[in-house]
Amino acid sequence: IALFLVSLLALGLFAGCTSSDTDGDDDEKVIKVGLSLPTQREERWVRDKEKMEAVAAELGIELIVRVADANMQEQITQVEALLTQGIDVLILAPHDAAAAASLVDKANAEGVPVISYDRLIANTDKLDVYLSFDNVRVGELQGKFITDLVPAGKYIIMSGAPTDNNATLFKQGAMKYIQPLIDSGDIEVIAEQAVENWVPENALQIVEAALAANNNEVDAILAPNDGTAGAAIQALIAQGLGGQVPITGQDAEKAAAKRIVEGTQSMTIFKDTRDLGEKAIEIAIKLAKGENVSTNATVNNGTVDVPSVLLEATVITEDNIREVLVGSGYITEADLN
Ligand code: BGC
Repeated sequence: IALFLVSLLALGLFAGCTSSDTDGDDDEKVIKVGLSLPTQREERWVRDKEKMEAVAAELGIELIVRVADANMQEQITQVEALLTQGIDVLILAPHDAAAAASLVDKANAEGVPVISYDRLIANTDKLDVYLSFDNVRVGELQGKFITDLVPAGKYIIMSGAPTDNNATLFKQGAMKYIQPLIDSGDIEVIAEQAVENWVPENALQIVEAALAANNNEVDAILAPNDGTAGAAIQALIAQGLGGQVPITGQDAEKAAAKRIVEGTQSMTIFKDTRDLGEKAIEIAIKLAKGENVSTNATVNNGTVDVPSVLLEATVITEDNIREVLVGSGYITEADLN
């Protein structure tokens, strides 16, 4: 309660300051931020976008949003266009981590700071900030969960798009738990494959093929996100195995939340994209004003250690789904039914 009062007081003071500001700030030009998102295919990216739009509107920032449909050429064209529109800062969530480097260099050459949003851009020393979740930790949470539940048996191991640095980090984290059990002979990997472009249809094919080649004998599935988990579960259900094979996920999508309640998906990872979106706009404003951005980590992108702001992720199971997801308003009770 004390903390709450202190924050209220601080907010009040802050509001007081700005409203009594008479030094001409009103004439200041509106900050223009360019936002380039890789896709809207997964629900989470829709929510990132909506949150950033809402916060930008609230804070009086002009936000120009462009969405590439999981196509790097499209994203390059869109970002190049944004750079001709006089943006002060660029928030860039790359479709392809390596190919996005040239966009960062270009922005930098034009004096436009860049925030690498959710996904780290590789091979450039010109990034200002990387804002994401602790993605190795996300993978660790998936790996720990599945190996606690199934410490031995036949595993299907899927990872995300090879062009997405997050996919590498998620897998790295998960394998910290799975690899020792492979080495000891407890876990047998019957399929290990990356899901190109994170496309669920690709995950469906991987799981269908693994089931067919192993007489439907599979004990656990590492799925990197809810989209791929949903497809894997479809393959399981087609073989009458729905709810019988523990499987991970990530993103706290509504459909996944429903599956967790139904018992066909074992878990998901909740990354609160509302916090990420809000933080992105806050950081963008600071960068636009040339102010210092406080970070809590550095992450190496193959070229340099990038100053980073990493948020925490939470494991969601049937035990805490209502408390955490419904309780925080991320989804509603109706979404679960
Ligand atoms: C994100 C995940 C998402 C995946 C597919 C990753 O970079 O971190 O939340 O499921 O991309 O869009």
